[in-house]
Amino acid sequence: MLPVIALVGRPNVGKSTLFNYLTRSREALVADIPGLTRDRQYGRIQHGMRPCLVVDTGGIADDAEGIESISRKQVQIALNEANLVVFMVDAREGISASDKVIADSLRKLGKPILLVTNKVDGIDAPTATAEFHSLALGEPILLAASHGRGVPALLEKINQLL
Ligand code: GDP
Ligand code: MG
Repeated sequence: MLPVIALVGRPNVGKSTLFNYLTRSREALVADIPGLTRDRQYGRIQHGMRPCLVVDTGGIADDAEGIESISRKQVQIALNEANLVVFMVDAREGISASDKVIADSLRKLGKPILLVTNKVDGIDAPTATAEFHSLALGEPILLAASHGRGVPALLEKINQLL
């Protein structure tokens, strides 16, 4: 069984964009509409020595649902399948209530978590991402998934933890 990396985070943070970049496929639907991707998508990634599966958890959280429900479903998937959780947040929008709820629940899993602050293109990344330190999930990895910026650093961290 290949190691599994789950991409989690609230809708519209860029999970499917990262998934597509990592798998170089169109398997995960990328859209401007939050929560449009209805099913989980799996892709194979080869990074360094070890192949693994990446799971796009997009679509599991409708905006109509509360943050408790979003958190429960996100964490359920991570709990069941993942060897490693990539928790993505939106550096442009800043920290949200959903981010905090998801972070608290993920912490209880006892699995390795990588905090990724996405959409750092065209903004002052260190300033924008400073507030995410309060999630207490370590140093955020600065990413611009739509440009591929920060992906090598993310893959290096993944390699260290798998
Ligand atoms: P998901 O709901 O978490 O899967 O998010 P998506 O991957 O569907 O992306 C939501 C929106 O954010 C889309 O319009 C993407 O083009 C945009 N997006 C994703 N990554 C980036 C990024 O690095 N920078 C910017 N500026 N926009 C991004
Ligand atoms: Mg998606």
